[in-house]
Amino acid sequence: MSSVKSVVSTPPAAFFSLAALLLLSITPARARDLLLRNAQLVDPAQRTITATDILIHDGRVAAPGTKAAADVETLDLKGKWVIPGLIDLHVHDAGNPQPDDGYEEMALGDTARRMLYCGVTAYLNLGTSESEEFFSRRDRQRARPLAPSDEADLYGAGEPFGRWSLGSPAMAPGKVAAYVKKWRPDVIKIIYDHAHGRSSLDRPTFVAAVNAARAAGVKTVVHISTWQDARDAIEAGAAAVTHFCDDDLIPDDLPAQWAKSGVRSIPTMAVQSDLAAIVAQPAMLERPLLRAVASAATLDAYRHRRSFANKALGTVQWQREDRANDFAAVRRLAAAGVTLLAGSDVGNLGTFQGYSLHREIKILQEAGLPAWDALAGATTKAADFLGRPHGIRAGEIAELVILDANPTDDVANTEKISGVVHHGQLVDRSKPPVAATTGK
Ligand SMILES: [Zn+2]
Repeated sequence: MSSVKSVVSTPPAAFFSLAALLLLSITPARARDLLLRNAQLVDPAQRTITATDILIHDGRVAAPGTKAAADVETLDLKGKWVIPGLIDLHVHDAGNPQPDDGYEEMALGDTARRMLYCGVTAYLNLGTSESEEFFSRRDRQRARPLAPSDEADLYGAGEPFGRWSLGSPAMAPGKVAAYVKKWRPDVIKIIYDHAHGRSSLDRPTFVAAVNAARAAGVKTVVHISTWQDARDAIEAGAAAVTHFCDDDLIPDDLPAQWAKSGVRSIPTMAVQSDLAAIVAQPAMLERPLLRAVASAATLDAYRHRRSFANKALGTVQWQREDRANDFAAVRRLAAAGVTLLAGSDVGNLGTFQGYSLHREIKILQEAGLPAWDALAGATTKAADFLGRPHGIRAGEIAELVILDANPTDDVANTEKISGVVHHGQLVDRSKPPVAATTGK
């Protein structure tokens, strides 16, 4: 599929100005108003469910009392629930790995379309795409926030920083500032990982990198794998820590220290448990939403346990062993008041682009996070982290997912999607995105 990638590589700027002119001349001045009647609006930030009509006028949630245009499109949402657009805060966007060492490769647009089909209206890419392609696509999206789009909104870190790029504390300010100036990343990702005696950034260099990112006005997401790594990241004042230490139970004093710091956690539960979960319960592969966004070849590879390669067999093993530690960490951090945000780490074994965010929310709930907090971590709190509107308040561009069942009863109900509103417009979900691409 590398030929597909070259087809979507960046055309010259002149092409875009011409394309933009053509679009301007054929796009009506304003999108049609949309009236969602009798909705149950679920607001995880307020922990409220409100029976209401939602009017979307010029792509934005209208203030109460606003009159709809005469040609308003009306949907009756009786018996349905509406949540803010979902956000996955830990994505590697190149495709879906398969347990027999195969790979379902996806171009950037393929991934973004699968995400949106699953109600994921935005995601944070923490590495894979080529930076030029990724950030130019992001910038084109951001320049037209009300344009009809079948792709999730992109946020990204680009290249992570680590021992290979930062040799000393003195290097950090210049390197980080130059990187921020070049790409304007949404976050800086730093690999700070000392598990099993791995050679990683030393602490002074790591602290210098966090400070340099702060000075440049960019949040840091720190990949860790020991609890000491997490403690160092908290003390350095990172914005978020991603992953847990799987090997050890979280130290007794860490949750309180973590909560006091205000640093967020993006634990990535799906990547730490879902391959073992699929092996234990193969029926998971038949979920309708998953089948709509993963290729038949990918799902087949998961069904045939006997063709699993050694990497997959090893992953099943460590996921079984580490599950208790991971679940205990969720429970203890939640009890202490740490903000837990949803990120699937999709792009790794056991995960699927778009779909696995739903698993992430569900696993967080299974581990002991209350449903409201699991939902907030994938919607309003995730949006706050990105500096993005929630998409449901008056004046904001509407970003909504319409569900057939109440997600505060069981967060797995986020899979029961009957509609998605993105950039203030209803997304055409008549054709599942998997039909548009071929897996390999
Ligand atoms: Zn990752």
